[in-house]
Amino acid sequence: MIRIDGITVRAGESPDFVKCAARALRIRTEDIKKVTLLKHSFDCRKKPCIYQVYSLGAEVHGDEERIARVCRNAKVKVVQAPVSSLEDMLIRMGVPFNVMKGKKVAVVGSGPAGLFAALTLTYLGAKPTVIERGSKVDERTAKVERFFAGGELDKECNVQFGEGGAGTFSDGKLNTGIGGGMAAAVVAEFAANGGGEELKYESKPHLGTDVLPRVVTAMRRKIIAGGGEFYFNTKVTDIKVCANKLTALELEGEKSGLLPVDRAVFAVGHSARDVYEMLFARGVKLEAKPFAVGVRIEHLRRDIDFAQYGIENASFPAADYKFAMQEDGRGCYTFCMCPGGEVVAAASEEGGCVVNGMSRRARSGENSNSALIVTVGPSDFGEGALDGVAFQRRWERAAYAASGGYAPPAQLLGDFKAGRVSTCLQNVTPSCRAGYKFADINDCLPPYVCKTICSAVDVFAKKIPVFNSYGSVLCGVETRTSAPLRMLRGKDCNSSVFGLMPCGEGAGYSGGITSSAVDGIRVALACAGIII
Ligand SMILES: Cc1cc2nc3c(=O)[nH]c(=O)nc-3n(C[C@H](O)[C@H](O)[C@H](O)COP(=O)(O)OP(=O)(O)OC[C@H]3O[C@@H](n4cnc5c(N)ncnc54)[C@H](O)[C@@H]3O)c2cc1C
Repeated sequence: MIRIDGITVRAGESPDFVKCAARALRIRTEDIKKVTLLKHSFDCRKKPCIYQVYSLGAEVHGDEERIARVCRNAKVKVVQAPVSSLEDMLIRMGVPFNVMKGKKVAVVGSGPAGLFAALTLTYLGAKPTVIERGSKVDERTAKVERFFAGGELDKECNVQFGEGGAGTFSDGKLNTGIGGGMAAAVVAEFAANGGGEELKYESKPHLGTDVLPRVVTAMRRKIIAGGGEFYFNTKVTDIKVCANKLTALELEGEKSGLLPVDRAVFAVGHSARDVYEMLFARGVKLEAKPFAVGVRIEHLRRDIDFAQYGIENASFPAADYKFAMQEDGRGCYTFCMCPGGEVVAAASEEGGCVVNGMSRRARSGENSNSALIVTVGPSDFGEGALDGVAFQRRWERAAYAASGGYAPPAQLLGDFKAGRVSTCLQNVTPSCRAGYKFADINDCLPPYVCKTICSAVDVFAKKIPVFNSYGSVLCGVETRTSAPLRMLRGKDCNSSVFGLMPCGEGAGYSGGITSSAVDGIRVALACAGIII
């Protein structure tokens, strides 16, 4: 395939890609067999003139190398066709299929890491048992909706726990800092499982919480078709170890009992505090690691869009932003931005209040929100493996006490800076469907975190002036940004107990949906002795 980069048109124009490719390659349109869209992004650097930039993949009649050379275009090169699925990537890697036939392998957790580990294992010939403490995604969605409407928190099935993992109620952003074929295979697999072809070429692909359930369901069906099975409403509560080798998992719930295993991929996510405690008690090596805590900040979507595009245009996608700054050796940054999204009550533990953000595919909500978080580390909370968990819990409880429940404490940014409880809203209405309660968020986070947030909003307002407006709404607390510890593992992905394979975000080896899925593939391959 010949890749052509840098095809630029004014936003709103619909280019004829065959003509564009023919022009770039200096050949006739009849000489082009097929054109595939490889990348699409918006260029807002000359706002209010907004451009769309495309990369195309052309299949041609004739010698690709010669055509690419003769056209003398620096933006043209011959490339391999992009991977179309996880299976395609494994074939290209030359992975021996079926090497794990007959092995007893369990995958604990059905988040992105667990699902991709399980799917990879089916190609390797294992018939993995996926153990998930929460319910199937449809049942889970109903439970979460009840919780948002004021119902009780289900400690086993909520925004953090249940089929699809923490990302099911999310914006479903799939862009990641890690490039390469594995991330592309993950995105292609999501696209093939109902996510939509555009995931493969959008520069910042996102699934949306309304699309995620069907993608997760399709992936479950594929794993089952490959020989895997799922135990829902069942959690791992203990491990059995003999001569430092994992031999069985103790299960509680619908499928309670002992499950003998040769290998178990532990993809339990960053909220499985009971698993952390159990592994610590069993002597599995864990170590505290830095993470970040803070708030969600909400603005009107149209204000953010206007700031980013410089014009109002309803046909443009909801705009995003990404900011970072350093003060006194501490980083403060925006994270998991949800354009046109909503703030969600994301608790998984009784008596603790946590927020996060999600959006639907259309990103058409009234507000845009983002986490605004500050790095914290063992020097703040202690070197003990579980000290970060205790730190998170302390501030989640403070938020719960401040708001009197799982609906988050909320405050206008101007009042947060002044340290007083808000009494009325200005132009931004909090989007959290679980509700909100005015309280002073300064009581819900360490003072150094609040101080850094106050400085950061002024810095970020240099890019988006509305960012630090008095009436921007803060909700708290955002504590589940990444794992507060790492489950130590070697190059072969074994923990200090052979056969127990830490995986994904909860183990401290990834952050976000795509990188967690990539880690799932990596650990599944390591189960077969394939180290990448
Ligand atoms: C509201 C929200 C919005 C987010 N938005 C985005 C986004 O837009 N883009 C992005 O990249 N990331 C986003 N994230 C983060 C992303 O969801 C995580 O990075 C990702 O899900 C981590 O994948 P994982 O498989 O490692 O863990 P998880 O997705 O957390 O999955 C762990 C699974 O293990 C299960 N489990 C835990 N303990 C046990 C046990 N003892 N027995 C059995 N099962 C167990 C849990 O129920 C859960 O299903 C968001 C997170 C949240 C909460």
